[in-house]
Amino acid sequence: MIAVVKESATPEQLDHLIKWIEGRGFKTNVSKGENETIVGIIGDTTKIDPFLLESMDIVERVQRVSEPFKKANRKFHPEDTVVDCGHGIKIGGGNFQVIAGPCSVEGDNLFRIARAVKKAGATMLRGGAFKPRTSPYSFQGMGAKGLDILMEAGKELDMPVVTEIMDPRDVELFMDKGVDVMQIGARNFQNFPLLKEVGKTRKPVLIKRGMSGTIDELLMAAEYVMSEGNPNVILCERGIRTFETRTRNTLDVNAIAVVHYLSHLPIVGDPSHSTGYTRYVRPAAYAACAAGADGLEIEVHDHPSEAWSDGAQALTPTQFADAMKRIALIRKAITADLGDGETSGAGTPTADQPSDVASDTKAGA
Ligand code: PEP
Ligand code: MN
Repeated sequence: MIAVVKESATPEQLDHLIKWIEGRGFKTNVSKGENETIVGIIGDTTKIDPFLLESMDIVERVQRVSEPFKKANRKFHPEDTVVDCGHGIKIGGGNFQVIAGPCSVEGDNLFRIARAVKKAGATMLRGGAFKPRTSPYSFQGMGAKGLDILMEAGKELDMPVVTEIMDPRDVELFMDKGVDVMQIGARNFQNFPLLKEVGKTRKPVLIKRGMSGTIDELLMAAEYVMSEGNPNVILCERGIRTFETRTRNTLDVNAIAVVHYLSHLPIVGDPSHSTGYTRYVRPAAYAACAAGADGLEIEVHDHPSEAWSDGAQALTPTQFADAMKRIALIRKAITADLGDGETSGAGTPTADQPSDVASDTKAGA
């Protein structure tokens, strides 16, 4: 349930309302937007009389929120969340970022790859040190040593680093090393103890959609992190398993638009794991960007045939640099103001789009 507070409400009145709600055993989530303040009420709200709430002087209107995800819901927080990833890099709300680097940290070649992706315009550096591999006999990642190399490269290039965490017991290690964004991989997106543990920090968390996960399950994964107090969540569409066998997974481009409609959280597209083949990565990257993704995560390796993991889907630095130029053109196209009062429809739902979220929470219809 949400209570939209009147613009005329004083901070004391708002405080009083929050205390009143919390005093009845509910949790609250306050979102102060440019135009309105929304108090989200979390708990068994069947026990709240909406008419009583609406009769309060400072309450403009009350609305039930039927979705099980609350903090991640756009109805609770109409404005886009902007996640600060460190090094001056922000994602969401019109801030578009490209995360690039090898699948795994393999050693000092990371510096070469990092310099190349930065030169091409990538703003965040990726590389796995703890790798989720289908076979226990495959390379499992360099572990803590890999994190050191990654952090060193991030420092040299002044780029935030994104790297996968698989075990809740590693949160302290990741915090100690200063990892900027903790990635929850597709295989762990419903590892609830892990989600809760990263939720206890305030570090940005990038959650990849599970290969058989629905959009609602992805948003519930975000809810797990946010319910522990960490609002800094970035979502990632990395392809889902379908009947198709020609590609590793199927990029669900729809999910990018649907997530923007349902949630205020930023979402990035991962064309590398979505497709599994270098030749398809760029078209999929363009599609994700055109659909309004807040960023992309792309695997790049300077010798793909020698990569220790996922070489078959790596772009070379030259391919990546070309793709970055085209991505910039696509961003320009979808964000352009054509002077006809319309928007591209990609990104944040606005009042002029047929969105009941926008009309419910912004126009007051
Ligand atoms: C990765 O980013 O290297 C990775 C393992 O991705 P996913 O969890 O999407 O398979
Ligand atoms: Mn990979």
